[in-house]
This record gives sequence, C-alpha cells and structure tokens, in this order.
Amino acid sequence: MRTPLVMGNWKLNGTKESVAELLNGLAGPAAKATGVEVAVCPPAIFLGQTEALTKDGAIEFGAQNCDLNVAGAFTGETSAVMVKSFGAKYSLVGHSERRTLHAETDEVVAAKFKVIQDNGLVPVLCIGETLEEREADKTNSVVETQLAAVIAAHGVAALENSVIAYEPVWAIGTGKVASKEQAQEVHAHIRQWLTAQDANVAAKVQILYGGSVGPATAAELFAQPDIDGGLVGGASLKVADFTAIIEAAQA
Ligand code: PEP
Repeated sequence: MRTPLVMGNWKLNGTKESVAELLNGLAGPAAKATGVEVAVCPPAIFLGQTEALTKDGAIEFGAQNCDLNVAGAFTGETSAVMVKSFGAKYSLVGHSERRTLHAETDEVVAAKFKVIQDNGLVPVLCIGETLEEREADKTNSVVETQLAAVIAAHGVAALENSVIAYEPVWAIGTGKVASKEQAQEVHAHIRQWLTAQDANVAAKVQILYGGSVGPATAAELFAQPDIDGGLVGGASLKVADFTAIIEAAQA
C-alpha cells in the first residue's frame, strides 16, 4: 500500500553544468520507472534550474534544509516559502550532517519540521544513531527520542503528511551500508513504535533507508517489508548508479 520513494540528496555538490547533465540523464529512467516515486534534493541555489528541467517530468524535488524563519534578517538562509515558490514538494529536516555540523537539536528539528509542513512542503525527517549509540545498544531509544520530539511538539498526526528517513550515522558517506537485516530490524521497530502512537499513521508513512545505498545493495534493502525506498547521497550523483537504484525500487 506504500509507494516506494527513491530520493537523492546531492549535499554540497554540483555546478550548473553537472546539474543539467544529471537531471537530463535521469529524466528518461524516472519516467520509465513504474510504481516508484523519484525525487532529488539539490543545493538551494539550483532549485530554479531543477524546477525548469523537471517540469512535466517524473522527478519531484526538494530542499536539503529550510530555516526556522520564513523571512527577515537572516543572511545566507533559505526559507520554506522560497523553496515552495519553486514548486518543490519536499524538504529534508534533521539530516545528521545538520544535526552534527550545525548543532541542530531535536527541538530545532521539530520546529523546522512544522515550518516546512505549514508552508506546503512534505518534511523528510531524518533520524538515526551513531556507531557509539549502536554499540551501547541504544539504537531503538535514539530513534524513539528523535520521533518523540516531533510528536511532543506537534502531535502524531503531523507525521501523516511526512516521510521518515532512517539513516544510521555510521553508514552515511562511509561506504558501510547496514545489512538488510539490521535495517529491517530498525524500520520494523520504528513502525511498531509508531503503531502504538497511531496505527493509521504508522501504516501509511513511508520509511526510507539511507546510508551508503548503492546499485549493489538497493534491491535487497528495498525488498524488506518495512523499507519503503531510500535516501541516497553519493550514488545519487551518478546517472547510472541512481538509475539502477530507481530500478531496484520498482514493483
Ligand atoms: C545521505 O546523505 O543522506 C546519505 C545517505 O549519503 P550516502 O548515501 O552517501 O551515505
């Protein structure tokens, strides 16, 4: 009942030329893919170009981050209103690189989640444990705390129109992909925990896996019952690799 979603996170990569090459290269494969939603999150400066190159196509797009404020004296920031005005559908929120490098706490992430949603975008809430937390057997409690912060601030119904991305921090950009069993175990736990809050929301919400997904690992990850697609960093910058990942998510 949940359509798989394959989303690329380009992080701080790309030029006008490489963005054109990537989007033009992905247009055909995305249009051909059946039963899978495809999206990319370019750096904000490329949102206009992405809007133009994906018009009438099968690729949705989103921002990697939005500011807490929608307008005003916040030099260098990008707001959800701006992102929405380009026709974007999504915004990531709480990516581990934002949490670590920009000191975004669970409370800040929860507040941003609401600003994103209130301005007509679908938040893609990124959660996940560090290696240290996994080794201390804290994975489940970490993801519960990260989800609970959003629920405490806005209610469980706020998760209905959102996407969750489980991204173990130790697997992001490291080439160390979680095994299908490790990933499914945490996804199942997230869904069970959400079921206790609201069974309808838990059944509907897409939970993506992120962390070094590549063409060789995508199919076995996406075949897991609680994994509804992937959030893909490095491999989303190569047409051939991202195409193979999209194909792996097809019904
Ligand atoms: C990400 O940026 O969310 C990510 C999962 O990156 P990578 O696929 O490169 O690990």
